[in-house]
Amino acid sequence: MTNTSFTLLGLSAAPGARAAQVLDLKLANVATKLPLFVLNGAQAGPTVLVTAGIHGAEYVGIEAAMRLALGTDLQQLHGRLVIVPISSMTAFAKRAIYVAPPDNKNLNRCFPGEANGSFAEQLADWLFQNLIRKADFYIDLHGGDMNEALTPFSVVSISGDAVLDATSMRLAEAFGLPNIITSEVKGSTISAASRVGVPAVLTEVGGQGLWPEHEVMQMSAGLHGALAFTGSIHSSQPAKPTRVMPQMAWLRSDYDGLFYPRCAVGEAVQAGQVLGIVTDYLGNPVQTALAPIDGLVVFLVTTLAMNIGDPLLAVGGNG
Ligand SMILES: [Zn+2]
Repeated sequence: MTNTSFTLLGLSAAPGARAAQVLDLKLANVATKLPLFVLNGAQAGPTVLVTAGIHGAEYVGIEAAMRLALGTDLQQLHGRLVIVPISSMTAFAKRAIYVAPPDNKNLNRCFPGEANGSFAEQLADWLFQNLIRKADFYIDLHGGDMNEALTPFSVVSISGDAVLDATSMRLAEAFGLPNIITSEVKGSTISAASRVGVPAVLTEVGGQGLWPEHEVMQMSAGLHGALAFTGSIHSSQPAKPTRVMPQMAWLRSDYDGLFYPRCAVGEAVQAGQVLGIVTDYLGNPVQTALAPIDGLVVFLVTTLAMNIGDPLLAVGGNG
């Protein structure tokens, strides 16, 4: 079936056309920018939202989103692709980890947002109201932050709506990363999406401020698989087997100091195993990080610098 024209936030695209613009936003009295791509397929189909750069230094997702925006064949596309490659521009520009600089809040803990809140809360509200809740499917691209290594995984936020959760799981399986964690992170993009009935997956590839070609290709292949599942594109790629882990146990530092990992990212570990040591600034050990569950080290902070309350690592597993 032929598609119709599509208008979103002042951008209009005829069937088979692409529109793109850097939007100027003012949130909590701070001026910021948001690059937006609207791809309207020649054929009718679903509206799929892809965001990246919710954390501004997670570059593999940002580059994969740019390539999707610029490289998709609109004649072969069914429905619409709405793509925001850099969702947190203040963090991207400042190369900031974890937070959005104006209010130093973690944007991925602020959803669905707050219209009269602080900068990150207003940005979350803007993204949620204008884009996330209007999508038929939602894919949010992440990775290890500039100080983190990780092994690729997807996260599905279990909402309790069995039909919705099954669709999100199938979307994650189609994305094809080797591990899927099924647990809710409150305030995250996909948690907010699932609460308004939008099937969603958050995907994690890469880290440490790098964006090597093989990792960008892995993220791009995942997008290809997921968009075949949504019916946006045709693909003959077979789905890859995935391992589902219902728990993600985060370990955090109780001290300011230096962090010495005793495990590798992607390593299988046993409950009670020593995974790292935090010392004070004089080198005295002050915290021994023990694996809380059997499982896989899915991300690991790789900087020597450590602050009280910061994550050390997370273990995905069955609990
Ligand atoms: Zn992230």
